[in-house]
Amino acid sequence: MHHTSTESEELSILREVVHKAAKEKVAPLAASIDELGEFNREVEALCWDLGLLTITLPPEFGGIEKNVGTALCIAVEELARYCAASSLLLIIQAVGSFPLVHGLSPQLREKILTRIQEERLLVAYLVTEPGAGSDVAGLNTTAVKDGNEYVLTGTKCFATNGGVASLYSVLARTSKGQRHRGLSFFLVERDTPGVKIGRKENKLGQRGSNTTEVFLDEVRVPASNLLGHEGKGFLLAMKDFDMSRPAVAAQALGIAEGALQAMIKYSTERKTFGKFLAQHQMIQGMIADSAMLVEAARGLAYRAAALFDDGKPNTKIASMAKCFAGDAAMKITTDAVQVLGGYGYMKDFQVERMFRDAKLTQIFEGTNQIQRIVIAREILKEVGFSI
Ligand SMILES: Cc1cc2nc3c(=O)[nH]c(=O)nc-3n(C[C@H](O)[C@H](O)[C@H](O)COP(=O)(O)OP(=O)(O)OC[C@H]3O[C@@H](n4cnc5c(N)ncnc54)[C@H](O)[C@@H]3O)c2cc1C
Repeated sequence: MHHTSTESEELSILREVVHKAAKEKVAPLAASIDELGEFNREVEALCWDLGLLTITLPPEFGGIEKNVGTALCIAVEELARYCAASSLLLIIQAVGSFPLVHGLSPQLREKILTRIQEERLLVAYLVTEPGAGSDVAGLNTTAVKDGNEYVLTGTKCFATNGGVASLYSVLARTSKGQRHRGLSFFLVERDTPGVKIGRKENKLGQRGSNTTEVFLDEVRVPASNLLGHEGKGFLLAMKDFDMSRPAVAAQALGIAEGALQAMIKYSTERKTFGKFLAQHQMIQGMIADSAMLVEAARGLAYRAAALFDDGKPNTKIASMAKCFAGDAAMKITTDAVQVLGGYGYMKDFQVERMFRDAKLTQIFEGTNQIQRIVIAREILKEVGFSI
């Protein structure tokens, strides 16, 4: 466990509590969660008990008073060291709740956030569609106003917690031909007529997270379920990224730390040619490179989160953090498998799972190609150049 230099007492306590719970209660389940590819209710209950699924809600609904972005990163990192799929639960709850916290009218907000806390409701985030992933503005789900209601129709895919969440934040098109300016977020309750859960995906990694298609067939919601203003959904999604990308960086960091620990442990126990692996310079190189990447990823992730918490622009740093930490996690977990040799390739040692889990951090919340585009765009914007 590593406390960042600026961590307050409250956040240090949070880190210790989550670390202990993750190590003692989640770690022993991680291999079977992966093997079964099933959402684990025991881990979900533990996260509710620890307050981790309301961490980004306002304090009166169970949230942390201040430094919300950093708190989310800490909880995600500590869980991801032992079980990435379990840490994804926290990220999606935060990502899905963001449009509700920032877009609901005061009366509805009070009602919905109270329900999330008291009834322990999971919230999913339905943006991606079969024909629109990176190109969010290309999405086709429509929301048509009809009197005091909106009628939503379309197909969403890759929805984390799609099959287990009770509430959905859905991005839909409210006006045609306007690309990202024609998008709006809506709250959709899962038991609304017309909502159908589709296929549950069978995934490479983070297999214990629930990923499904969700079909919306003329789903009617009250007009008050519009989150924020019509046409401002894309902006809300971008603000959500400012919080979620540091959290994905923290997930990648946690996975990388788990793999580094495994690499260190194994290399100080296994002997070849009469020496411990750790006494071979090429192994030392992999340990040193991995440790450097971990430190750099930590610095970026928590800097991005701190900027978010201070209300400062963090888009560039958040993308850097997500991209760097994701690439680092992929490199480190690959090296960890290498250091463990044939044993690293077997399921009995955790690094094989970490290697598969790491891959997702380069893909979701904007692929690492998209992050590089964002970084370049932000840098060029600083000198008045638009791409
Ligand atoms: C396990 C999992 C969970 C997910 N959870 C959610 C969720 O809860 N909610 C949700 O809404 N979505 C979710 N997603 C979707 C995820 O965000 C998208 O998969 C991701 O944004 C990429 O979109 P795509 O899969 O359509 O790939 P595409 O956009 O088709 O991209 C394919 C490839 O082309 C590259 N590419 C695309 N455009 C460019 C470009 N302009 N320049 C260079 N390269 C480019 C991409 O980087 C990628 O390598 C999840 C995905 C996975 C795998």
